[in-house]
Amino acid sequence: MAAAIDDLVAANRILAREGVVDGFGHVSVRDPRDPARYLLARSMAPALVTPSDVICYDLDSTALDAGERTSYAERFIHGAIYQARPDVNAVVHSHTPAVIPFGATAVALQPIFHMAAFLGAGVPLFEIRDAAGSATDLLVKTQPLGEALARTLGSANVALMRGHGMVAVGGSIPEAVFRAYYTGQDARLQADAMRMGTPTYLTPDEARSATQTMAALVSRSWELWKHAIAL
Ligand code: MN
Repeated sequence: MAAAIDDLVAANRILAREGVVDGFGHVSVRDPRDPARYLLARSMAPALVTPSDVICYDLDSTALDAGERTSYAERFIHGAIYQARPDVNAVVHSHTPAVIPFGATAVALQPIFHMAAFLGAGVPLFEIRDAAGSATDLLVKTQPLGEALARTLGSANVALMRGHGMVAVGGSIPEAVFRAYYTGQDARLQADAMRMGTPTYLTPDEARSATQTMAALVSRSWELWKHAIAL
């Protein structure tokens, strides 16, 4: 439990330091004591999160021990994905600028290098207008909207949110952080390549193979990023 909270705090600070999140965005972990619960910081900037800021939620995103602490309006993203995806143990939500153009155009985000091979599983696009049926402030602030986002994500590792940002999921905190980070890198590189010409993307077979290879190497990035926030 203490280890999960330490990793969650580290993930918050890493995502901020690496430019995946800024004052906004959040990362959660499924509660190692109870798979029907998850842990998420109170509503605050990720770079400033400490262990005492972590709140426990049930999968309907009702806070169980918040006390006076305020919850993120978009916590439903996390609970709904944990409900829909038993294989997911960590979720990152961010507004990473590089991915926004891919949510706003018909250009599909694709794996342009092996580090983002996990994008080969597809990158579905969440259109909140379809889910809500009326104008919203773009935020996933209700359980039905969270469930609609989880349905859009399906079995993919990443989903884009039109006019808003993205979610990245993983079987562990390091894996979700890795995917969130390299989704942003891939978006930047794909946009660069499209300005130069017509990019060649990883084939589905290459993406599957590279996803397996890189999954075994996630800890290298995690150790580096943890070292950087400790300096
Ligand atoms: Mn958001």
